[in-house]
Amino acid sequence: MLPATEPDLIVNGVRVDADLLAARPVRRCSLAECQSYCCTGGVYVSVEHAADVLAHQHLIQPHLPEARRDPALWFDGTAEPDDDHPAGGLVTGTAVLPDATHPVGESCVFLRPDRLCALQATGLAEGLHPWRFKPFYCALHPLVYIEKRIVLSEESEMYLEGGSCNRPAPGQAVPLYELFDAELILALGEAGYAELKSLARARRVD
Ligand code: SF4
Repeated sequence: MLPATEPDLIVNGVRVDADLLAARPVRRCSLAECQSYCCTGGVYVSVEHAADVLAHQHLIQPHLPEARRDPALWFDGTAEPDDDHPAGGLVTGTAVLPDATHPVGESCVFLRPDRLCALQATGLAEGLHPWRFKPFYCALHPLVYIEKRIVLSEESEMYLEGGSCNRPAPGQAVPLYELFDAELILALGEAGYAELKSLARARRVD
């Protein structure tokens, strides 16, 4: 068990919460259980990412229900600074629309009734990386990236109100940095993740 004061690990200038080195008996979320609760309120994306999504609208539209296919509906038109986002610069929000099929009654415009993200479905259908069009913050979830620090945010409303972003897996304790390997590779890069593993071994926790 790591001491409570264990310092963050630093990889590529990004701080990684040492709690992610701890082994816990949990597994990944299940859409059948959480119903994509994390997609309720939409997400901020860099304006460059929004432009990229719009440039590929012809690929994305077939993966959305007809009522959500108009690209004019997809973003909320805001543009505000977000120093946290790795892309830097400005971010804009995905639109949130009424959704009678969702437990909360509204959802991100890219969420489908089957609870899959149309942006991820597009990447898969095109034979690209599943996260080719998926926003950074969505792909990273349930890890969060705040002030260039990566943490597992278990105090968020999503956890407290039933998001069940990770589930008990008795007897299968696994280090969180291994459970969320794809997310950490996204944030740190392949070489950065390899460095994180090396730092973890140096702390003798895996
Ligand atoms: S972009 Fe996709 S993953 Fe992100 S909130 Fe919208 S539906 Fe969910």
